[in-house]
Amino acid sequence: MSRCRVCQHALLEFFDFERQPLSSAFVAPDGTDDEFFFRLAVGMCESCALVQLIESVPPELAHHEGYPYHSAGSSVMTKHFEETARRFIETELTGPDPFVVEIGANDGVLLHTCGEAGIRHLAVEPSGAGTVRVHRAFFDAASAAAILATDGPADVVYSANTICSVPDLRPVFEGLDVLLASDGVFVFEDPYLGEILERTAFDQIYDEHVFFFTVRAVQALAERFGFVLADVERLPVHGGQIRYTVARAGRRTPTPAVAELLAEERELGLTDMATLEAFGRKIQGIRTELVALLHRLRAEGHTIAAYGATAKSSTIANYCGIGPDLVPYVCDTTPAKHGRLTPGSHIPVRPAAVFADPYPDYALLFAWNHAEEIMAKERAFREAGGRWILYVPHVHVV
Ligand SMILES: [Zn+2]
Repeated sequence: MSRCRVCQHALLEFFDFERQPLSSAFVAPDGTDDEFFFRLAVGMCESCALVQLIESVPPELAHHEGYPYHSAGSSVMTKHFEETARRFIETELTGPDPFVVEIGANDGVLLHTCGEAGIRHLAVEPSGAGTVRVHRAFFDAASAAAILATDGPADVVYSANTICSVPDLRPVFEGLDVLLASDGVFVFEDPYLGEILERTAFDQIYDEHVFFFTVRAVQALAERFGFVLADVERLPVHGGQIRYTVARAGRRTPTPAVAELLAEERELGLTDMATLEAFGRKIQGIRTELVALLHRLRAEGHTIAAYGATAKSSTIANYCGIGPDLVPYVCDTTPAKHGRLTPGSHIPVRPAAVFADPYPDYALLFAWNHAEEIMAKERAFREAGGRWILYVPHVHVV
């Protein structure tokens, strides 16, 4: 039986995506024999209600270079990190000589913005590339103690799109216990199970996302390690996330937003197995519809390409069996992916410029979480008669 990574109780499985590759393992055309596959399935802990992957990717294969890196590459995300930094500066970093730490610094926008305001800052990241000051390590009690010795306690420890990828959360909370100032806060943002269910955004489920948080589960998680969930805030980024603010037990009174979202989760039955199993049936429905649509369009002689060779598109492509026979190529702006094949599904990745040369009749929008931005940028595609195929929250053509 599989056990909860946090409290060791049994996991109740509610959906199985079957055989899936590593979502970031784009393969060379002659390298498809060596691909690694695992069973991508999700379950909920019967005790603490934390939704998580049933099987883990072996640690030596999982994002070995450090915390998963999510390049902003997007003006929306750059603005988000700048605004978050300004918020911290106004609310949490107001004491004398404040100090902010970011776990997995993404592209460093947040810390850079804090730095411009004269605030001491540090990224904790094993791979440690980038323009901001970096402590090269995973965040745990040892690295936290080293930082405490040189920089003193942190007023804010922040992390975006990283905590949900850390299979063992105990060292993270042990590190927080060492490094956080007595009134300091740990603020993290990750995809929200409520939003994933609401949008049927099942492609958020892939090897790099181990946990799918709810307010209920994060509250239990924080309390387990001697902290309190002090505030929650829904964010529009990445298709819907929650920003959790965690403080030392007894140091902050939870805001009304915590109780409100807890009540909303109860009302929606977010951590009921019946709700999660209904989500699974919707995923099966999307597969049936999307595969039928692609087959019909191909049979009618239409050309189809995919847009955005994202890690999260790996789940849908493999679960639906979408290969180069249905979608002959996918356009992407990342040079390192060009000339390679999508993991498991083996769709060739072409440069973004190929998209308009000539435009396909239909474009399957894999990077749907940036739909608004992409559709604005690619307005000419739509004006030339092209149509977008989206599959979140349901299969539709626009
Ligand atoms: Zn548990």
